[in-house]
Amino acid sequence: MARIVQKFGGTSVADVERIRNVARQVKAEVDRGNEVAVVVSAMAGTTNQLVDWCNQFGALHDRREYDVVVATGEQVTIGLLAMALQELGQKARSWTGWQLPVRTDNAFAKARVKAIDTAGIEEGFKRGEVAVVPGFQGLAPDNRITTLGRGGSDTSAVALAAALKADRCDIYTDVDGVYTTDPRIVAKARKLDKITYEEMLEMASLGAKVLQTRSVELAMNHRVRVQVRSSFTDVPGTLVVDEDEIVEQAIVSGIAYARDEAKVTLAQVPDKPGVAAAIFGPLADAQVNVDMIVQNVSRDGKTTDMTFTVPAVDLERAVAVLEKARASLGFSGLQADKNVAKISVIGVGMRSHAGVAQSMFRTLAEKGINIEVITTSEIKISVLIAAEYTELAVRALHTAYGLDAA
Ligand code: ASP
Ligand code: MG
Repeated sequence: MARIVQKFGGTSVADVERIRNVARQVKAEVDRGNEVAVVVSAMAGTTNQLVDWCNQFGALHDRREYDVVVATGEQVTIGLLAMALQELGQKARSWTGWQLPVRTDNAFAKARVKAIDTAGIEEGFKRGEVAVVPGFQGLAPDNRITTLGRGGSDTSAVALAAALKADRCDIYTDVDGVYTTDPRIVAKARKLDKITYEEMLEMASLGAKVLQTRSVELAMNHRVRVQVRSSFTDVPGTLVVDEDEIVEQAIVSGIAYARDEAKVTLAQVPDKPGVAAAIFGPLADAQVNVDMIVQNVSRDGKTTDMTFTVPAVDLERAVAVLEKARASLGFSGLQADKNVAKISVIGVGMRSHAGVAQSMFRTLAEKGINIEVITTSEIKISVLIAAEYTELAVRALHTAYGLDAA
């Protein structure tokens, strides 16, 4: 007997017929002799609608009440799925995030899970009952309702799998696994059988929207075996696992892209100690996350150009903060550009192979694509390019690293 957490996303529970389909898949897992807890999202589109209603009260509405509103989508689907299971003769009950409870911190609208009390679910397992749990929902220390941020149901599922010491956490979604790159722009993208936690973490945070980044962090920290698979087909999905489980490790496992960053260039910043701190301090204070940074060699030895990226949604705030500090920072010009894309090559294999970055640069050069900023880590190389070359760059790199399907 195994213990399994299954998670179904919004498109898998989009209407009653699909919820019945989910119930059949849950029951099949129980019939194989397993203990099952199911985590569900709200019906597709529901959370967007709820968020939209809240936003009609302006950007400064009470985040506690926002969570009260947006957490409701998942309460509908847990009740309906429990009914659908009962219709099949399968014992089941729903638990809201505050009944279990799922304890979180008090960062309303983007709370982090602290602990999950699984006693009720474990009791239910003894009675042969399936536990139906809402994704996204939590309870703050002061007992107010929280939510885990958009896409947070993935994190709920992994956190529950960790708390239940489940053998596996199956994430059922509308794609049938993790691909070497986005199949919508590269027809020859391949589905990966396995991917390491570290690579998945990079893929998720660099733009592949299969799993919420935080869910991968959590899976890695608690060594939860995650499988990404489709709820509409029966083919095996992608397993997210430890590096030593992968026998033949490719040098590069995937290419990710993100178009949600913007580039800022400050011209002629005085080149003296403390200037980076003076620029990035106020941005951090304004909750703007700076990602890639380059500082150009100064020609005259007195000034330097500083280029960096920020999330596009924060660009206006970043520019306002910098303009306000213009006199004290002493730069001569500020340029902002939203038409950029970050392209990343990811693979744990590059730790032990030289020349991976060089082939990226050569490939882009051959296509006449200019690289504006470069950053690297042990297992990834990212470059910033003009947004219009995104598809061209991703396709060329996919071929260059031998990732194309035969
Ligand atoms: N329903 C929430 C959302 O749409 C949580 C989730 O589905 O992951 O963001
Ligand atoms: Mg999702």
